[in-house]
Amino acid sequence: MTSRDKTWQPEPPVLLPPWHTPGREKLQEQARRFAMDEVLPVADELDPHKGEIPASLLARLADLGWFGITVPAEQGGLGLGVFEYCMVSEELARAWMSTASILARSQGLGTAVPDAARRHELLARSARGDWIGAIALSEPDAGSDLAGVSTRAVLDGDEWVVTGRKRWCGNAKAADFIQVLVREREPEEGERRSAGLLNLLLEKERGRFPEGLSGSPIDKIGYHGFLTWDLTFKGVRIPKDNVIDQARAAREDSDAEGQAAEQAGFAEAQKFLDTARVHTAARAVGLARAALEDSILYLQEREQFGHPIGDFQALRFAVAEMAAQIEQSRAFYRQVAHLLDLGLPVAKEASMVKLEATEMSVRVTNQAMQLHGGNGYTTERQVERHWRDARLTTIFEGTSEIQKRIISDRLLPRSPLG
Ligand SMILES: Cc1cc2nc3c(=O)[nH]c(=O)nc-3n(C[C@H](O)[C@H](O)[C@H](O)COP(=O)(O)OP(=O)(O)OC[C@H]3O[C@@H](n4cnc5c(N)ncnc54)[C@H](O)[C@@H]3O)c2cc1C
Repeated sequence: MTSRDKTWQPEPPVLLPPWHTPGREKLQEQARRFAMDEVLPVADELDPHKGEIPASLLARLADLGWFGITVPAEQGGLGLGVFEYCMVSEELARAWMSTASILARSQGLGTAVPDAARRHELLARSARGDWIGAIALSEPDAGSDLAGVSTRAVLDGDEWVVTGRKRWCGNAKAADFIQVLVREREPEEGERRSAGLLNLLLEKERGRFPEGLSGSPIDKIGYHGFLTWDLTFKGVRIPKDNVIDQARAAREDSDAEGQAAEQAGFAEAQKFLDTARVHTAARAVGLARAALEDSILYLQEREQFGHPIGDFQALRFAVAEMAAQIEQSRAFYRQVAHLLDLGLPVAKEASMVKLEATEMSVRVTNQAMQLHGGNGYTTERQVERHWRDARLTTIFEGTSEIQKRIISDRLLPRSPLG
């Protein structure tokens, strides 16, 4: 390739041993083609107007089976692992981050209810893309410190009555359900502050809020594709049995008994959190890659001083550094995803990769904007979208500071004063 070659095509991320299998190579190629041919044009059209992912695109994702990548095959899913889920998500985020994010609102989310038959029915719906949810954890006064959640749930006969406010709930109105973190009681003396918190399943109709729930969209600077809501719960009624408990569901679905089942339950609940962090890392890599690929084209297209600007060594070295950082984060997220699929404990590593990949994505998209000069600071080019979306990844799913707290708490014991 010469610096003037405008026919340059990005190479797909290499799947080397031990990650390579023919099935993965095919899935990666399929995801890449779908993202570039079907998602990117929609993102280019809708994102500048803060548009939502159209129903037709959701239907295509459902056809491909990607709402159930990690759902077992016997429940109607693809029966694949976190590795494949992240690989597909990187490709989708390369085109439009919100399409990778909507996948995280299925994959069995909102199905861990007490009744086994219902659990399995919901899992099948989740795999079909017929059970896409929203997660309402954060509140105006409880973000990083979720133990401070104050939305109250009070039992009244066979129903919980929920009152309070939630903030930042993505996809709330368009969802089939909202998983709501509530406080059922205050912690007793000697208990952790999180004692008395539980997750309730609020079933709803797509496109409407149920009785007692109202909301207004938050005017974000990026992450378009779905709306993010401020929600007010005023006596919303939820059936008593609609309690989501990942650990309990895993214990009941496990063949083991006693302590082994207890451990299976705990491991499943932790896996859920870890998967979300690795998934965010994969999305961050997709965004950084988009910024790099767009930059490589622009550096060949734009001429100054009688040269394509891609001839200038400073800019060539910037490209080299961007590519090396992306490759490093990709290798790291693949490793952590693989360890998760093996069932190994990776809480520390999941926080590490979330921290590293998202900070990398902010640096790389920022550098890409610099390489685009003034054109980068316009809505005429896609690099501003990658930059806006990457900026969020160090904030949501636990900020960088919170990841550092998790990592350091696992490495360095606190003194009794700590
Ligand atoms: C676009 C968007 C979409 C989101 N989607 C959802 C969603 O769908 N559902 C949902 O429940 N939530 C969602 N969130 C919320 C998100 O998870 C929170 O914004 C995030 O956890 C940070 O909480 P906060 O905004 O309240 O910041 P705060 O917790 O107030 O933090 C402010 C600053 O203080 C730092 N900080 C806080 N505590 C510590 C500490 N102990 N040590 C060091 N530094 C600290 C933080 O790192 C940050 O820099 C979304 C947020 C955004 C912006």
